[in-house]
Amino acid sequence: MSDVVKIKSVTEEAYDTKTFRFDWDAEARPGQFVMIWIPGVDEIPMSLSCTDGPEKSITVKRIGEATEALHRLVPGDKLRIRGPFGNGFDLSGKDYLIIGGGVGTAAIMPAVKATGADTIIAARSDRDIILDDIASEFTDNLWIATDDGSMGFHGNAVQLMKEKAAQKHYDCVVACGPEVMLYFTYKACQELGLKCQLSMERYMKCGAGVCGCCVMDDSRICRDGPVFNQDQIAKLSEFGVSKRDECGRVVKFR
Ligand SMILES: Cc1cc2nc3c(=O)[nH]c(=O)nc-3n(C[C@H](O)[C@H](O)[C@H](O)COP(=O)(O)OP(=O)(O)OC[C@H]3O[C@@H](n4cnc5c(N)ncnc54)[C@H](O)[C@@H]3O)c2cc1C
Repeated sequence: MSDVVKIKSVTEEAYDTKTFRFDWDAEARPGQFVMIWIPGVDEIPMSLSCTDGPEKSITVKRIGEATEALHRLVPGDKLRIRGPFGNGFDLSGKDYLIIGGGVGTAAIMPAVKATGADTIIAARSDRDIILDDIASEFTDNLWIATDDGSMGFHGNAVQLMKEKAAQKHYDCVVACGPEVMLYFTYKACQELGLKCQLSMERYMKCGAGVCGCCVMDDSRICRDGPVFNQDQIAKLSEFGVSKRDECGRVVKFR
């Protein structure tokens, strides 16, 4: 079943990324995602960048046909939405370090808001940093990292994470971003003896565990994930190695 929601506002976060806000009374948890149907184009997965209260949002990076069509929408236009789907983050513990890389920052925003935990937002360059203004409203410690050094720490998210973890005790790292970032975050957590919860991305058609497109070993990213902890990740042989494209072909990361 799907709902139709009306876009209330559109905010330009970066040259290629926009946030769409809408009222939707569905119960959603930090880390969950929705399927957005763009009639005549496609239906695609999007993390909820705001989950609490009646107002929800998605933050969309323009990549291809469907996301370009979404970027043309304006306040008053309607979206067809299914969900929320997936398990979301377990935020019942304490001492989290939260990391968002690139547009993956959208998925960690509700966790930042719910916990007020220390947060790293990382991207290639200052023009790719998103949602730092909103994150800074909810955490006292927000650190920015850019690969080219144009803003904040000069280096990647994992280098900065290691620096911060050496200065302060954390129990668990919560992260969403490109798979290479998640892979090295996982490796760093293993070295440092930290727990982690990483939100994964795979090509999806149904979002509800039926089509099998997003299978990774014996887990469905849409239903069993998208968030996996260190014990589950240890059993995912495809993590950081390969993914499947829309035709089911294996695409190697390295
Ligand atoms: C659980 C989940 C949550 C997601 N949350 C978000 C979110 O919050 N915000 C967001 O912007 N996106 C998110 N995505 C990714 C988003 O679904 C895709 O970017 C989108 O489906 C692309 O559709 P398209 O038709 O615009 O591009 P397509 O026409 O499908 O792809 C265009 C080209 O870009 C490549 N491509 C596709 N996706 C990506 C990607 N993610 N990164 C790099 N290259 C890509 C394709 O291989 C192709 O070459 C999420 C994905 C999943 C599985």
